[in-house]
Amino acid sequence: MLRALENFASRLGLTAARCPICSAITDRNNGGLCPTCAVELRPHLGGHCPQCGTMFGDENTPPTLCSECHLTPLPWDRLYFHGRYSGPLRDLILSYKFNGGVGRTRLLSDFALTAFGNNTERIPDAIIPVPLHTRRLLWRGFNQSTELALALGKALDRPVLKSGLIRTRHTIPQTQLGMKDRQTNIKDAFAADEKGVRGKTILVVDDVYTTGATLTECTRTLNRAGASGVDVLVVARAQQEPA
Ligand SMILES: [Zn+2]
Ligand SMILES: [Zn+2]
Repeated sequence: MLRALENFASRLGLTAARCPICSAITDRNNGGLCPTCAVELRPHLGGHCPQCGTMFGDENTPPTLCSECHLTPLPWDRLYFHGRYSGPLRDLILSYKFNGGVGRTRLLSDFALTAFGNNTERIPDAIIPVPLHTRRLLWRGFNQSTELALALGKALDRPVLKSGLIRTRHTIPQTQLGMKDRQTNIKDAFAADEKGVRGKTILVVDDVYTTGATLTECTRTLNRAGASGVDVLVVARAQQEPA
């Protein structure tokens, strides 16, 4: 009953806005975040590798290519991400993945936009979400990567090719596997819409970058289909904590 009254009052705008992360009362600035969560969820701007996203230095230093990417470049040209996959950003992504929610969609879409930033010289010809297998899509009801891709498509005024990449077989969720098994599990799991991607620059969108195995396979598939360049955007980049 109390919840129903609260909902009714909130629809009339009679209650204070609450932070979608910690539920503290907030003043609708910072995308609805309270000041504490806004600080914790601020974008990670520098001190990382622009290709693999490894964070190794002071955030105030510009992004620089790491030695590993010098030696063995990844198949995409550039990786964009908003922040580290930990703390409130991780909680937000997990609750979004399993519960959806308009507020979370808006917040994570904003993060996807800040991750892309002012890179107007790299605006892609088309945007493609990392697909979920139909079985998982039916179970979950929505693909979080598609929602993020649609927000980017709208903001950058570029088409979103929802079926630009499709899953050709069911795979074990990558979260249950180690690095080596992830690569084997995901190998040849995608097919690209050749007509849609040939000769185009593509931005591939996902929510989280963990080992990069899925994004590597997606990018290889697009490159084989004739894409002229691929960039990758995720909201959060997982990092090994320094020992
Ligand atoms: Zn908060
Ligand atoms: Zn790197």
